[in-house]
Order: sequence, then C-alpha cells, then structure tokens
Amino acid sequence: MCGIFGYAGAARDAREAVLEGLQRLEYRGYDSWGIAVVSNGSISVDKHIGLVGYDAGSLPRSHIGIGHTRWATHGKVTDVNAHPHYSSDRSFALAHNGIVENAPALKSSLQKDGFKFISETDTEVIVRLIERRMRKAKTLSEAVRLSFKDLEGRNTIIVLAKSGEIIAARNGSPLVLGLGTSSEIYLSSDVFSCAPHVKSILVLDNGEMVAVRERAITLSSIATGKKIKQVYEKNLLKDVVVSKGAYDHYMLKEIYEAPFVIRQVIKESDATYLALARAIKRARRVYTIGSGTAGAAAAQMAFYLRLYGHIDAKELIGAEAFEYKSLISKGDVLIAPSQSGETADVLEVLELVHARRATIASFVNMPGSMMTRLSDHKFMANAGPEICVMSTKIFVSQIAWGYLVAKAVEGKLAEGKRNLKKLATETEKLLADDKFIAKVRGHASRLAHKEHLYLLGKGQNLQIIREGMVKIIEGSYVHAHAIPAGDLKHYAITLMAPGVSVITAVSNDEVRASVLNAIHEVRARGASVFGIAPQTDENFDEFLAVPDTKETSAILNIIPLQLLAYYMAVELDHNVDKPRNIAKSVTVK
Ligand code: GLU
Repeated sequence: MCGIFGYAGAARDAREAVLEGLQRLEYRGYDSWGIAVVSNGSISVDKHIGLVGYDAGSLPRSHIGIGHTRWATHGKVTDVNAHPHYSSDRSFALAHNGIVENAPALKSSLQKDGFKFISETDTEVIVRLIERRMRKAKTLSEAVRLSFKDLEGRNTIIVLAKSGEIIAARNGSPLVLGLGTSSEIYLSSDVFSCAPHVKSILVLDNGEMVAVRERAITLSSIATGKKIKQVYEKNLLKDVVVSKGAYDHYMLKEIYEAPFVIRQVIKESDATYLALARAIKRARRVYTIGSGTAGAAAAQMAFYLRLYGHIDAKELIGAEAFEYKSLISKGDVLIAPSQSGETADVLEVLELVHARRATIASFVNMPGSMMTRLSDHKFMANAGPEICVMSTKIFVSQIAWGYLVAKAVEGKLAEGKRNLKKLATETEKLLADDKFIAKVRGHASRLAHKEHLYLLGKGQNLQIIREGMVKIIEGSYVHAHAIPAGDLKHYAITLMAPGVSVITAVSNDEVRASVLNAIHEVRARGASVFGIAPQTDENFDEFLAVPDTKETSAILNIIPLQLLAYYMAVELDHNVDKPRNIAKSVTVK
C-alpha cells in the first residue's frame, strides 16, 4: 500500500530514477501518484490519478527528486489530493504514507492561525504544520522534526526542499535508505524498489529521521534531535529479477513458483526450526496472527500446531486482536507470517507484546522489515518478490512453513521435510499437466458468470477453502462464501437450491466422510458440486483429480483454487495483478 521514494545523485536523471522506483512500488497497490524534482533552485511537481507513467517534458531534468504512490484514505482520488504537496511558498514539497489521526484538531488550530488548505488530505496538515514551525525553527530539518512530533498515528513522510535537501521521518510505514553503486542515495518504502542500484541499506526504525544534503547523510532521533549511529546492511535483493517471463500475468507466474517456495522453506536449517519448537513447547500460550491471506495462513499454522504439535495454539486476526493485547505477555509465543513484515494492524500487536516481553517469531518475505526486527525467531521466506497484489506463492510458503514448525514441535522435523519435498514434486507435476490446467480453466470460465459461489471444507481444508474464497472475491469480484462443512446444516443449507454452485476440497483424512455427508445434503437440495480431491465421489457433479499428498494435501489443494480464481479473473477481463480497491501491503490501519 502506498509508497514513498526519493533519489539524490549525479548518476541518474531523478525523473527516471523516481519513476522507476514508483513502478517497482506499484505492486503495493495505489490509486494515484506524483513526482517532485528540484531544478535551478525551484521545485516542480507532476501528479496524476491512475497508473504510473511518464508524461515526458512536464518536469525538468534534475538530480534530486521524490515520488509517491497514494492509496487514498482522506479525500477522494484526485490530482489535487495526490502527493507531493507544495508548501505555500513552494520552498518544499511533501509526500506522506499513513493517517494523521489527530488531523481534525491540528487543522482547526492551523486554520485559526490563518493557514489555508487546498486539498482534502490529512497530509496537507503536516505541510502547514512545518510552515508554522518554520517561523521559529532554525532549519527545515528542525521544523520537520518538531512538526512530526505533533502527529498521532502511524506516519512516514518525505520532504524535498528547494535547496536540494531531502528529509524523511518514520513512525509507521517502512522507510529504508539505500547507498547506490555510484554514491547516489535512495530513500524508499522498501528495498525492493531500488534494489538493482543499491549496494547497502540502512533500515530506519520508528522514531528516526534522516536528512540527505549534498551526499551527507544524517540519521537522528525524532524525539531528541540527537544523531544516531548508522548501521548499514548488505542489500540481499540486488540480483532479484522482476519479470513476468513467458506468463501473461504475475499471478500465474507466482502460482507456478509454488514448488520453488516450498523448497525454500525446506532449506532453512534444522537448528532454526528446533529453536522455535523448543520455545513453543515451553510457552504458556501460543498465538498465531495475520491479516487477510496471512490471517488464513496464521489459522492454518495454528491448526497444524494443534494437530501435529499437540499445542493449544490460538489464531488471531490482526485487526481483531484488541482484547488479546492485555492478555499476551512474557512466557507466551506469538507467531506472525507476513509478506511485507509491515502490516500495520499486526505490527501494532507485535510492538505491544514485544514491550510486554512475549516471544515473537515471524516469517517474512521482505528483508529489513519491522516485524523481523521485533522478532526473537526470524525466518525469511526467500520466495522472491510477489508482485501480484493477490498473494498466492507466499500463502503456500507460509502454510508449508507452519506445517514444518508443527512437525518440529512433534519431534518429526525430518519427516516433515521429506513430506514437503514430495509435495514440491507433486505440485510441479500437477502444474506441468496441460490437461489439468485446461480443466481448471474450463471450470473457471463457467463459474466466473455465477452471481454467488459457495465453498465447503473441514479440518485441514477449512482455511484452504476460506483462502480460495478470498482469492475468488479479490480477483473476480464474484460473491463467494466459505462454509465449514459441519456447520452447513445449522444455517447455510437454506441457500442450497437448483442452480447453486458449491466448490469443495476433500482429502483422504478422518473428516472425509463428514464432508461427503454435507455434500450429499447440498445435492439433495439440487445444488451442484465441484470437487477437488484425490478420487471422485458419486456426489461430485464435476471433479478435479489431485494427487494424494497425505499430511500436506491441504497445501496442495490451494493450488487449483488459486488457479481457478486466476482464470475466473482472466475470463472476466479484470486487471488480474491489480484488482480494484485493494492494496498488497496494508501499512495503515
Ligand atoms: N492519508 C494520506 C492521504 O489520504 C496518505 C495516504 C497514503 O498513505 O498513501 O492522502
């Protein structure tokens, strides 16, 4: 969600450097964008709604610039509301990620002091605050620091001064500084966006700000203004290639990367898994937490921990963990899978329980993230960038990892790794089977035109059908509803009638018979059933055969559901990699 970018250096044209950065931030989701550059001591701003693309000639050539991809929270999606926002005298321009929670109060105080507002954004409040501070502060940097302290909520800003200085401050959304190969300096919401040009990175913590002036970098504390030692890390993403290759969409390419991401999970050392397993076994309580797709992954992990680890693990949804915040403390273990490692509602819980000295484990795909920094047990997915806003391969890697953690707790880590190895091979074979793909595609083109779809599942497949539902809703905007098979007769059975389509994933496990019972009831009411399973059943109207991978069969079952959602979105001619209204990395609450 929303991105900030900055460039200062002689090596490149800032317009192009910032534009490329914004394009590499696109995957996070946004609705409008803008660039500001300095040239001959004055600032020029270019802002647009819609997709990032260069309007040649509208900005002068420059070597210093900032950019922003906006995901509107305050004010409609318009050119005026897009960032960067000029100060009244155009001596600086500012872009912002986050929500200023006390914006109404700050705005009325500024209005009383005579400040005028042009946009509907909370961001403009920050601009005017800095202007007011400038009346007394010695430097822009000091005015930014003091103004930033007045903001409530999770916010990160970047300011471009007409003098050529860039100042950025973080208290929420991520911010990294990258040192370029020819001494240029990058600032961005993630390492990935500037990765090809950067040799080392400095990850800013909350409460830190950075000023870049003529290649001199100053890192300081927002609270005190005192300088902070700069600790650089090697840029591990330098050689990561971003390309759709021969695929029509990133989503399809990423679904095909499932075998690769499973193998990455196996590669992690036994010692790392065993250390977490020990912590889990010693814990008073174990929680898993995530939002959206990572929430489904967190629930699947808790399921595996209960089933294989015999641990009473409880899953939490990031934004719904309110009452748990005071319950989790020292002695508890909290496990967080997250693509970005920056999801705001999950981070808020992690920060709180970190302060209460609970043990945190995270599984993240973005190096240098806040979640990794808060964690006692740090795992990296190493899955390569996931560009499609809809998560597919990362979900697979998250639940494969969760399975392995549970197997480590069970004392059967080696067996878990062997099972995942088999799963990777079977998944690979399935994805290479053209007949299988054509079948999924056929079902997708039929189901895409339904108004409602129902998914049924139980046990290891319950979260899988939930995630299948999420993918269908995200990609095709078709209303989908996941029903726990056993709960069907308690309410949703009223909806079953001729013409209704139900999708189910069934494994050869102890709950198979009860899922088939539910399906029987569905068919008795005239609805038709599309079954994903190792073998067919008389109650399936349509059937998609998948290999029986036993303990890991739920992980395999998500693949046909992801493919189904993909081909449904294609059938409906939707923007597959960027579905409407949703953002990938939700860094605001
Ligand atoms: N709250 C700001 C706005 O609506 C910033 C949104 C963002 O993070 O992109 O303009």
